[in-house]
Amino acid sequence: MLPDYHIHTARCGHAEGTTTAYVEAAIRKGIKEIGFADHIPLYWLDNAERDPELAMPEAELPHYVAEIHELQKTYPQITIRLGIEVDYIPGAEDDARAIIEEYPFDYVLGSIHYIDGWGFDNPDFISGYEGKDPDEVYRCYFDLLQRAASSGLFDILAHPDLIKKFNYRSRTDLRPLYQETARVIARAGTCIEINTAGLRKPVQEIYPSLEFLTICRSHGIPVTVGSDAHSPEEVGADFGRAAALVREAGYRQIVTFSRRRRTAMLLKVGD
Ligand code: ZN
Ligand code: FE
Ligand code: FE
Ligand code: ZN
Repeated sequence: MLPDYHIHTARCGHAEGTTTAYVEAAIRKGIKEIGFADHIPLYWLDNAERDPELAMPEAELPHYVAEIHELQKTYPQITIRLGIEVDYIPGAEDDARAIIEEYPFDYVLGSIHYIDGWGFDNPDFISGYEGKDPDEVYRCYFDLLQRAASSGLFDILAHPDLIKKFNYRSRTDLRPLYQETARVIARAGTCIEINTAGLRKPVQEIYPSLEFLTICRSHGIPVTVGSDAHSPEEVGADFGRAAALVREAGYRQIVTFSRRRRTAMLLKVGD
């Protein structure tokens, strides 16, 4: 099975199970390499505003890092990477960079979860879609994705078309926007993530769509794969479908990371 580079931990306040349970689930499923990528603290907010159910508290970050390093020693039979999922917030790039550079991460996932402070992928704020022009919302989302790529902060853009999560769809052909976005991502040298969590959400599709992924392929953008597991049984979920999608888009390889340097890994029969 392909490496799973998007696994959360209970430290973020909305995932369940011990980190050992995640590792053991991966071993049981025959996965050779995983990476934890828990939510970074909500670094751009004042302490008082931080919701403990959205991300880990700032004080937890060193413990998170230490715990993953401990797991690497306990489970030599599987490669365990230290990643982190970082929100891209325009204007707060320096704060994000300071945290990212403080720890020896193998890779950094960049995510768009907020449009002007609106948590558009949070079921609690789904009413925010009402009365908005879908085309405008998609434009804003992909603008932010392009800015995230250009910021140079991230190795991989997570769930790159997350805006479709609740099946809220743009009315116009998205291909020009996909093309423009892929050009920016390719120029920045950033990878994108194939994320199977969309199959467990109302949209019931992997992020990104085959259409966007095929365009990314034509621009030579490398990919990683992640389940976005928030419980141990979700590790490696639907990776057969992820591998099929990657192949259908024309990819022959994915990439892995160590200390933020990437290596190509050829897709094999049975992945
Ligand atoms: Zn989460
Ligand atoms: Fe995310
Ligand atoms: Fe995630
Ligand atoms: Zn995620």
